[in-house]
Amino acid sequence: MSAHPPPAVREHLARLAEQGIDVVRVVYPDLIGTDRARDVLVDHLAAACEHGLAFCRAVYHTTPQGDVVPVEGGLDRGLPDVTVWPDLSTLRPLPWEPGVAWCLADVRDPADGSRVAESPRDLLRGVLERYAEHGLRPVAGPELEYFLCEPDPAAPNGWRRYADAPGLVYTAGRRGDPDGHLLSTLRRLRDLGLDVSMGNHEFSSGQFEINLVHSGALDAADRTFLFKSAVKELARGEGRLATFMAKPFNDEGGSGFHLHLSCLADDDSNAFDDPSAPYGLSATARHALAGVLAHAPALAALANPTINSYKRFGPDTLAPWLIDWGLDNRSAMLRVPPERGPGARFELRLGDASANPYLLLAGTLAAMLLGLRAGQEPSAPLEGYGYDTSRAAVLPMTLADALDALEADSELTELLGKGFTASYLAYKRNEIERFHRHVTDWEFVEYAHHL
Ligand code: GLU
Ligand code: MG
Repeated sequence: MSAHPPPAVREHLARLAEQGIDVVRVVYPDLIGTDRARDVLVDHLAAACEHGLAFCRAVYHTTPQGDVVPVEGGLDRGLPDVTVWPDLSTLRPLPWEPGVAWCLADVRDPADGSRVAESPRDLLRGVLERYAEHGLRPVAGPELEYFLCEPDPAAPNGWRRYADAPGLVYTAGRRGDPDGHLLSTLRRLRDLGLDVSMGNHEFSSGQFEINLVHSGALDAADRTFLFKSAVKELARGEGRLATFMAKPFNDEGGSGFHLHLSCLADDDSNAFDDPSAPYGLSATARHALAGVLAHAPALAALANPTINSYKRFGPDTLAPWLIDWGLDNRSAMLRVPPERGPGARFELRLGDASANPYLLLAGTLAAMLLGLRAGQEPSAPLEGYGYDTSRAAVLPMTLADALDALEADSELTELLGKGFTASYLAYKRNEIERFHRHVTDWEFVEYAHHL
């Protein structure tokens, strides 16, 4: 234990003692938005704040199966460290784990304390710094969907959908949730201080949606990152599996990560509102919207980050398929809800629930900023039901195409940084290579009996 912790650390230690906390779980997001973490006994917290915690940099290059992908700066340099610095201002006691508090951390290069290219939190910070140059502060309101599953040895992957019954679209209560999973999850997320507002049974059976209150973009990303981790952790406590995978089942739709977006001006007014402008949307809003449309193929690489993500897209899904926008039109990729004044905003429906919140926000805000800089105007809004390929371009339909679009979008990659983009492309292209080498159950069913 550090002999003389600084006063700020001492104050936190005193509060933790009052709360009966003896372990601090230090967490930070990796490239795929999963929480990497270490449990630190409170007696050693001051030392962790003084020296940082050492993690192998390859934590950013590790696949969901635990293999290390060769990404520059990792394996090739002999698996060096990064230093993880707890941010004690983010401490929050975990309601379901007595004696434990969560704490977000920042990741730095041990050599010179600089930002690490793969760090999602810093990627978003970097984009937000560019907004400050324009006197704008982006605001985000996330909505996430997920499937809840329970163990079933007879199911193909060992899991079946919880409370599997059709037609419980947008309901609440025991019909679609006999054990009150949603109620207990909502209350625990509230007690965790994540500022969630409401939830319901979603369109598909076993699927739920929970909404987070809008806030500044970094705070919204932090809360969404913790939210996804908390929902998965709580489901494990129920003996279940909560998955934010984009499309886990063939016979049901996918899970979206819809983002409501606006910007505050220096005087705290909503910079997207202008009653005298076309559609009641200010030039700032229209340019930002046009930027998202223009950079959508590249943005898909971040908003739809897995091979599975592209199986969610399609006509008649409530998920997008075409690069379009509409006024209160849910069949479009970008929906402008009817509210104006302080509530003027657009909803990006592109992202799926598997997206890393920091990367989705960083990419979207970067695309919006490029639209602002270019003074672009959006094409005419979609009228009526969408999904008409004669009216708008189709989104990339595979992860490989989206990654190629990201690589080709030099304006976007410049804003996001070449270091980040190179690491992300190398990591994700490895995922595609591994998938192509893998024999799937579809192939066996399709071919084995007939060929
Ligand atoms: N599940 C749909 C999606 O994947 C969205 C359904 C809704 O509009 O809430 O985006
Ligand atoms: Mg929904």
